[in-house]
Amino acid sequence: MDPFEDTLQRLREAFSSGRTRPAEFRAAQLRGLGRFLQDNKQLLQEALAQDLHKSAFSSDLSELILCQKEVALALQNLHTWMEDQLVAKNLLMTLSSTFIRKEPFGLVVIISPWNYPVYLSLLPLVGALAAGNCVVLKPSEISRGTERVLAEVLPQYLDQSCFAVVLGGPEETGQLLEHKFDYIFFTGSPRVGKIVMAAAAKHLMPVTLELGGKNPCYVDDNCDPQIVANRVALFRYFNAGQTCVAPNYILCSPEVQERLVSALQSAITCFYGEDPRSSPDLGRIINEKHFQRLRGLLGCGRVAIGGQSEESDRYIAPTVLVDVQETEPVMQEEIFGPILPIMNVRSLDEAIDFINHREKPLALYAFSNSSQVVNQMLESTSSGSFGGNDGFKYLSLSSMPMGGVGNSGMGRYHGKFSFDTFSHQRACLLSCSGLEKLNEIQYPPYTAWKKKLISWTLASQSCTLL
Ligand code: NAD
Repeated sequence: MDPFEDTLQRLREAFSSGRTRPAEFRAAQLRGLGRFLQDNKQLLQEALAQDLHKSAFSSDLSELILCQKEVALALQNLHTWMEDQLVAKNLLMTLSSTFIRKEPFGLVVIISPWNYPVYLSLLPLVGALAAGNCVVLKPSEISRGTERVLAEVLPQYLDQSCFAVVLGGPEETGQLLEHKFDYIFFTGSPRVGKIVMAAAAKHLMPVTLELGGKNPCYVDDNCDPQIVANRVALFRYFNAGQTCVAPNYILCSPEVQERLVSALQSAITCFYGEDPRSSPDLGRIINEKHFQRLRGLLGCGRVAIGGQSEESDRYIAPTVLVDVQETEPVMQEEIFGPILPIMNVRSLDEAIDFINHREKPLALYAFSNSSQVVNQMLESTSSGSFGGNDGFKYLSLSSMPMGGVGNSGMGRYHGKFSFDTFSHQRACLLSCSGLEKLNEIQYPPYTAWKKKLISWTLASQSCTLL
């Protein structure tokens, strides 16, 4: 018995009926999503507190407000985004119209992770609904509190013939992916990304893969260690380090390391107090499995700051590790916790070499008082996103695409990028059924005169608007 068949059939039929296509329908769904966020703000905050020990402020800042902004942006721009895009043509098509139509793919599935469980489910959903698709959302089974709110409450705000939430872990998601979707939007680990892509290959389903990896953070000798420490600590320890774009490790000289460690200690004390465990601004590890994995990583290198952990509430102190070797697990796997290893390099070139010999990261950071150094890092490397003297604040901008490159993913979203991701860009040529005389030059037999004329018209560009 296939648990998904009936739901998927219902959604496919709804899409075939054409009801999700009109702008009014899409706008109504987006308004429903906006109301869901507004009416259930407290419920969502409580779920996020239960899952990740997020404070209400941190939930608002990193999840709810961004979702609301995305809904508002889509509503404001929906008509413009949906408009046909007129394109340039040649003389052969002067009297025809040529344009790109943004059409919905059909039935899309969104599979999300647990670390920002509302934001990473609803942000892609905004794009999918704005683009006129029917959507199956599969939230993470690990962030249980949020999963329950999304499954039980969200559908009440949307047209349930076009939207469904399905539940399950790896096994059920594998089963779900045996079905044919018109688009798969996956956020999660590179390991599962490969499983998703293999499943997509069976039906040639297009995918966006928003994956993770190890994000390097280079700190130049020419810097103010306290400023760097403040900015790195904020973005490393936010959400207890469970952020895909968080700086994963620092590359710096031994001299900078010494100054940076004491600056990081004062930043941590300043942000989270003498006893970070009692700080309302520090999250907790999502579950026992990840807690034990992270506790294992505390044995790498030497603990310079923090290192304490408490199993009863899955607390791990903001930690800095020094004397770390490249071969140790903390430098091999994505950390996804409040642990910051520091590795020593002798120069900017050595840092660039180190980064370029590894998989392309989702994010890369460089700190220096010299814009030349920051620019050299930017120009000599590749990553999904880049922060010069800053962390991942850019995520709050819908004007910037979010996405990885290489091992950190493929595709992009946020704002209009999301709308485009969930729309098929259909190349359209509309000619009139008459005026056959003008067409006659295209038909064989190709005399020398016709050949010359066709070549000339093909090479020509006429006005876009004709
Ligand atoms: P995950 O890959 O384990 O799980 C993600 C989703 O896939 C979940 O819904 C899960 O149920 C499902 N899944 C798990 N195993 C599966 C399988 N075998 N077959 C099919 N589906 C399966 O990731 P996670 O632990 O939830 O999240 C952490 C990872 O996500 C990190 O690697 C992090 O970097 C990445 N991430 C990336 C972004 C981004 O925007 N690029 C954002 C957040 C998290």
